[in-house]
Amino acid sequence: MSDQEKLELSVRGMTCDSCATHVTQALKSVPGVKEANVPGWQSGLATVIAKGDVKTEALTAAVREAGYSATVCTRQSSLSSLRSEEGKEVARNSGNSRNLFDLMVIGGGSAGFAAAIKGAELGFKVALVEAGTIGGTCVNVGCVPSKTLIRSVELYHLAGQHRFRGVYTVPGRIDWPQVIAHKDELVNELRQTKYTDVLAAYPEITYIQGRARLTGKNGVEIDPATPGGAGGKRYTPGKIIIATGAKPWAPPIPGLNEVPYLDSTSALDLKELPRSMIVLGANAVGLELAQAYARAGTYVTVLEVLPRIAPFEDSSLSVALAEYLEEEGLRIVPNFKTTKVERRDGRYVLTGTQNDAELTFEAEQLLVATGRRPNTSGMGLEEAGVKLGQRGEILVNDLLLTHNPFVYAAGDVTGRDMFVYVAAYSGMLAAENALTDAGRTYDASYVPRITFTDPQVASAGLTEDQAREQGYEVRVSTLSMVHVPRALAARDTRGLIKLVANAATDQLLGAHILAPEAGEMIQTAVLAIRFGITVRELRETMFPYLTNAEGLKLATIAFEKDVAKLSCCAG
Ligand SMILES: Cc1cc2nc3c(=O)[nH]c(=O)nc-3n(C[C@H](O)[C@H](O)[C@H](O)COP(=O)(O)OP(=O)(O)OC[C@H]3O[C@@H](n4cnc5c(N)ncnc54)[C@H](O)[C@@H]3O)c2cc1C
Repeated sequence: MSDQEKLELSVRGMTCDSCATHVTQALKSVPGVKEANVPGWQSGLATVIAKGDVKTEALTAAVREAGYSATVCTRQSSLSSLRSEEGKEVARNSGNSRNLFDLMVIGGGSAGFAAAIKGAELGFKVALVEAGTIGGTCVNVGCVPSKTLIRSVELYHLAGQHRFRGVYTVPGRIDWPQVIAHKDELVNELRQTKYTDVLAAYPEITYIQGRARLTGKNGVEIDPATPGGAGGKRYTPGKIIIATGAKPWAPPIPGLNEVPYLDSTSALDLKELPRSMIVLGANAVGLELAQAYARAGTYVTVLEVLPRIAPFEDSSLSVALAEYLEEEGLRIVPNFKTTKVERRDGRYVLTGTQNDAELTFEAEQLLVATGRRPNTSGMGLEEAGVKLGQRGEILVNDLLLTHNPFVYAAGDVTGRDMFVYVAAYSGMLAAENALTDAGRTYDASYVPRITFTDPQVASAGLTEDQAREQGYEVRVSTLSMVHVPRALAARDTRGLIKLVANAATDQLLGAHILAPEAGEMIQTAVLAIRFGITVRELRETMFPYLTNAEGLKLATIAFEKDVAKLSCCAG
């Protein structure tokens, strides 16, 4: 560490010459500071000459106490080499080191975009680094393509299903290439309008195309192999947010790695509809794609190692959904432990055991939908003091700070609540905490979860079992969709609603819905759980008649009464 260092700070909140004076005085008041200067309040900058042992936190705290906020952008010794907080040299060649950014966000998906935009809106200089396609998983290979494909197949199925026979004509074979083409069209459109165009609207954000890795505590290097100008460049931003998402993961089943199986990405891009398919894994992604392919005309077998499908949802929903899927012709095999995967005569053959009996399944295609694992390997994370969990997820505290004080993480890479709205929420939160010491804590108590099968599974809060495990005394209400007028009118009474309430306070702890478009119903329950609304308050609230959402109100009444005895409009 050198005796004397020059620091440059980015300062926010200065609006006049007096502000510049206040910031200068605040910096000068820090013990060890020899000189401080603000070159005009409009610059948003301050320079400080200080003894080498002056902590950056002491400088930013002094500015904060004066009513402004600041981040240290560069720290330079008298030898003119840039140094990290530990005093390690991070780059001798100043032409190859960029300290221009208050914040560098690694990963240009939903979490990364949310973080970068929040940083820019707060007035900071931000860089967003993306190794692959702008927009990340959701728009390119996740929510958007899967949901539009599912909807296309649903419409085809609805037109042909028995409930509406005579009203709609039964169509011929589905035009699969057209379904895929429509999907691609929407993906391209939304990538452009929701990511590329949005980025262009934020000139404060510098977009860097390339793969990033950490070098030391707060250094970032762009992979030298990156084509274009960014390759090999090094940066020492004020703060770093890692938002590198997750990728499909397959279990270590003998033979699996030797066959070219489908994952959620390639399954959304099959040019031809297979005659048969095995889907390994019956969580959200597996079930959604299994039903979509089955409805399009593929014979689908779903193999699940756990005792039931949708294994993390309330068991009553899992049981009912399995029945509906089987009625549609899917073969559901729970409790199946795959022991071998082979390829014979161009077909996939899976052998395994179910309750000690050996079973074999074969099909033209194999989709492995057994979960996703964080993208953290080869990024220099552990060397930089960023600790990882057993599944490679970045460990963060409630502020989304990692074990390295310069580095935050957000979205799927943290391994928690892998949904796009959580990614966006956590990206914003991480940016605010990293840049402003806002101290906002991550709250996952009411995160909604949807499985886009038909009927959909939508839930929020605790299941009955979870609530009991956590020591709550609970009251439970279960209502069949048979009692919901909207379901009767639509001639589709599949599903049920289950509510879990805290017996002591009457507050809603969890809501679990299996119903057509249940995802549209759950938000009422999300608000109730988040804001501590009681079952009684929900019951006394008006819900519009002939909506499925009214089912929630009926489920609250079912805590006390037999809803079969209610007049339909009496509430
Ligand atoms: C088939 C499928 C369907 C889904 N459906 C839904 C849904 O309906 N609703 C829902 O809420 N969620 C859904 N999800 C989940 C949702 O897509 C993710 O939770 C969300 O997209 C995660 O966002 P993220 O920003 O954390 O990561 P990502 O969007 O994956 O972004 C990470 C980005 O980081 C980049 N990157 C990785 N490493 C580096 C590096 N070293 N340097 C630079 N860049 C790097 C990657 O290229 C990627 O673009 C679905 C997921 C899948 C797979």
